Amino acid sequence: MNNILALVRNVKIKCTFDSSEVLDCAAIKKALKILRSALHASFSESDAFVYKKSVDARDRGDILLVYTVAVSVPEEMLSKKVRGVDFLVMQNYDEMFLHSKKTESSPVVVGFGPSGMFCALVLAKAGLCPVVIERGADVDERAKKVDSYWKDGILDTETNVQFGEGGAGTFSDGKLLTRISDKLSGYVLSELVRHGAPKEIAYLAKPHIGTDNLRNVVKSIRKEIISLGGKVLFNTKLESICADASGRVTSVVLGNGEELKCDSLFLCIGHSARDTVKNLMSNNVSVLPKPFSVGVRIEHLQSDINDALYGDFAGAECLGAAQYTLSRKYGTRAVYSFCMCPGGTVVASASDKNQIVTNGMSYYARDGKNANSAIAVSVDTEDFGNTVEGAIRFQEDIEKRAYAVAGGDGTAPIQLLSDFFEGKAESAPDKIIPTYTGRVAVRNADDVFPKFITDGLRRGISDFDRDIKGFSCGSAVLTFPETRTSSPVRIPRNDKFLADGFLNLYPCGEGAGYAGGITSAAVDGIKAAICYLNN
Ligand SMILES: Cc1cc2nc3c(=O)[nH]c(=O)nc-3n(C[C@H](O)[C@H](O)[C@H](O)COP(=O)(O)OP(=O)(O)OC[C@H]3O[C@@H](n4cnc5c(N)ncnc54)[C@H](O)[C@@H]3O)c2cc1C
Repeated sequence: MNNILALVRNVKIKCTFDSSEVLDCAAIKKALKILRSALHASFSESDAFVYKKSVDARDRGDILLVYTVAVSVPEEMLSKKVRGVDFLVMQNYDEMFLHSKKTESSPVVVGFGPSGMFCALVLAKAGLCPVVIERGADVDERAKKVDSYWKDGILDTETNVQFGEGGAGTFSDGKLLTRISDKLSGYVLSELVRHGAPKEIAYLAKPHIGTDNLRNVVKSIRKEIISLGGKVLFNTKLESICADASGRVTSVVLGNGEELKCDSLFLCIGHSARDTVKNLMSNNVSVLPKPFSVGVRIEHLQSDINDALYGDFAGAECLGAAQYTLSRKYGTRAVYSFCMCPGGTVVASASDKNQIVTNGMSYYARDGKNANSAIAVSVDTEDFGNTVEGAIRFQEDIEKRAYAVAGGDGTAPIQLLSDFFEGKAESAPDKIIPTYTGRVAVRNADDVFPKFITDGLRRGISDFDRDIKGFSCGSAVLTFPETRTSSPVRIPRNDKFLADGFLNLYPCGEGAGYAGGITSAAVDGIKAAICYLNN
């Protein structure tokens, strides 16, 4: 196939109950017809593929699939002007990793979540043999430990839903949609596909991998890094950093007391390593507080969400399980849905003892009975005294109160939405059975959250009923608290991605405050690596 593509945009196909394959074929045929008549040339179906695909369900009676179809064309077509068609040269990403850097010791990457994985992958491809240190276990061992936490309440504070190979998103829905507009997002998706992710993630408007696929993909990325000369050390924690007077990090001290030399240090520690943030601050790394959000997980029947959003087309294979994004602004306070998991499960996600933290995940098939999402209320820096300690304490206090209120044995609090609106906690779930991966008890959210959070939730959830009929139905179930929606801190860096006062310290990903989600964290890790190659 040629590396020049004609992108035929806005090809619309009516949603039917035919298979996705049949509808994709219809879109390709329609696009080829447009191109043939515009260019007076012939192209075969084997030269064409779906480049992007989205759903337009604004009119539930006439749902459309909107495609961009790519057709491989000869180079001379690049200069053509055709309405609705763009010509583009396919990017050779590996050129970005060319460099002339010589190092005496390896770059060290802390954390093997999306930012650390992609940072290390780029460094490995560039021939710089990175050493990754990850406090948690490899994904197989991790899956066993997480299972044991969910079934028996035995939490390992180093290997859990937040920590371990693959990072925080390994037990997730694996949504890959990102708000950042960066060509590297395409690179991340193509690498995920190369490492075994379903190939449609490269073209769907709202791609997701599913926790089942993610576990294999992260393992495959690790194997490639190692095959290129890198090392990945699990159960190995960064304790502190050693820097010389010029601000050059020379080595890191590990949890077992050993010292590891490094040419440069990439901090890809995620949003839950509170202990590490404190240690870094005592090593003179500048850390600032930032706004974040907290709230609850809400569960509805997926079939009700499908009916509300897709009407008569609910259940069509090409649409899959319906998903939503909701938001409202009330003055300076935002209330919004976050990390919606169609056909998903609400998961126990604490990383420390005596805390309850919720989150959500789905398998690739998204075929569970319930739909869940976080409904979060924004928290401003003034709400916690504008300090790093205050930000962390704000999250921790809610997590600990939830733990205590529900019995102090790892049980999570739940509440029927009808009770929540009335400020009481009496009724057990009936129509919608909570999917939480641990024990639950009916409790009052007013006993867990500050008033501005529960006020915001009541107002937001009521108003969301205007967007999705039935969203505020009394039978919906709340499980709480959802506190880890984003990092409460930021590690400031300059335009070369270097931390304040350091010559070779690269804070990146979600924990440093530069990403929110799997794809953006991965992109940030790649950018940090590229900056290092060019610094
Ligand atoms: C249950 C769940 C579901 C989610 N679902 C989605 C989703 O569907 N889509 C999406 O885009 N995002 C989702 N997210 C958020 C997403 O996972 C994060 O945005 C993303 O993982 C951030 O990547 P990161 O590499 O910056 O940090 P992380 O993924 O958090 O990785 C940081 C890594 O650093 C390690 N680490 C921390 N401190 C140290 C130390 N001192 N020494 C050594 N290692 C250390 C940790 O163990 C961890 O593995 C979800 C998160 C959770 C918890």
